Parts: sequence; C-alpha cells; structure tokens
Amino acid sequence: MQKRIVIANWKMNPTNLAEAKKLFLQVKKVASTLSHTETIIAPPFVFLGELSKMYRGKKIAFCGQDMSFEERGAFTGETSAAMLKSVGATHVIVGHSERRHVGETDEMVNKKIRTARDAGLRVTVAIGESDRNHKEGTHLEFLTRQIELAFKNISVKDLSRIMIAYEPLWSIGKSAKQAMKSQELEETVLFIRKILMRLYGKGAAFKMPILYGGSVEGENAQELVKHSGVQGFLVGHASISAEEFSDILCAVNTA
Ligand code: PEP
Repeated sequence: MQKRIVIANWKMNPTNLAEAKKLFLQVKKVASTLSHTETIIAPPFVFLGELSKMYRGKKIAFCGQDMSFEERGAFTGETSAAMLKSVGATHVIVGHSERRHVGETDEMVNKKIRTARDAGLRVTVAIGESDRNHKEGTHLEFLTRQIELAFKNISVKDLSRIMIAYEPLWSIGKSAKQAMKSQELEETVLFIRKILMRLYGKGAAFKMPILYGGSVEGENAQELVKHSGVQGFLVGHASISAEEFSDILCAVNTA
C-alpha cells in the first residue's frame, strides 16, 4: 500500500523561531510514530534550516512553500531550489493559490516544476478553480487548462517526483463544515486523472498522488481520505495548531 501524505503549509506562521520550534516538536512527537503516513512540513523559508536540523528520520520531510524558477542571480527576495536543498528541504510546493494571487502565472508554474525537477526536488503542484459553474462546467475547463500548462514539456519519467494538490479556492481557509464533500471531491479527482490519462496514459495517471487542500480539519479528514480517492492532504490553517494537525495525521493514518 502506498503511504498517505500530509503536507503542513504553515504559510506566514508562526511569528518567531521559538514558536516554530515548539510547534515542530509537538508535531514531530505524533508524526514520527506513524507507519502509514509521510508528514511533510512547509514552514516559512527562514525557519526551514533550523527545523530540518531537529529531525533525522524518514517519516518527516521538509518543503519550501514556493521557489524561484531561476537558478541564481539578481532576484531580490527570491529563494532557489539549490538553497532549499542546502537547508534540508526535499520538497517544494509550486502554484499555490496565494502565490498565483500575487502574480504567479501558469507559465511560471511550469518553469518552476522544471527547475525543481532538474534540482532533484519533489514537487507538489497546486491547482484549483476559484468557483464552480456546474451547468456550464467552466471549472472543468479551467482545471484542464491549468494542468495542461503546468505539465507542458514534463515527461512521463518526471512524474515519479511530482504530485498534485487539488485546492478549490472557494473551500480554502474556512471550516470543516464548509469544506468540499467527499463525493464531489471523488468526481473531481477522477476528472483530474482523466486529464492525466490523456497526457500520460493510464498507468502514470493512476500512480500520481493527488492530495486535497481546503479546510481539512480533524473532523473531516477521515471521511475525505477514505471516500474520495485522494492520497492525503495539503493542510493550511489546521497545520499551525499542533492538536488539530495531530488529529488529522492520526485520522489519515488509520483510514
Ligand atoms: C491552503 O491554503 O493550501 C489550504 C489548504 O488552506 P486551509 O487548510 O486553511 O483551507
């Protein structure tokens, strides 16, 4: 059985290194005991190196929340793939909706995937529509386009280091009660696999881990992971509460 995957996207939290270490130690206590789940922590860049020094096992990995598609040079404020690797990150998220919101385009997402691939990082590509129009199906067209552009010039061989996080914007940052329901998620996951199938064939499409993100909490984690065909979650607000995040990890691990 493939391991479940849970990514903690801390976003711009907590406010200082001491708090970040405290949160990490609390999460580590639970994450390091789980045999069916890989926990991936995506802290702010400035905490990454310090936190990764605090763990040497295989059950927790470290992740950048974003990265530059450039390798080096005059790009003030940017962080490269090599820099991420040098402080212990093995993963990176690209295309998060909060990055897209401040100007990241599909073309940039594609460049970042290729740069991360070349640097040997594992990539989580975030996709998701901002709203749904069931009658006209515009959200399906939107997802198709996002995937086609993100995966341009990505070969089937590259896919073993890539996963998709499906995060519909309308479900982000709310509460479990307002999150997407498992049936609707299952249909969307199948739709995503159909696009991947057209691009890469059936085997590759069904191997690709698809995660869900959008108001996952302890309350809805088990139902969603059991009944929607996702391999795990990308968790935002609930990942900065050690208690809530531990509930998610345990729910996923036993599902
Ligand atoms: C996110 O922004 O990636 C996310 C999933 O956030 P939340 O869990 O807070 O909805």
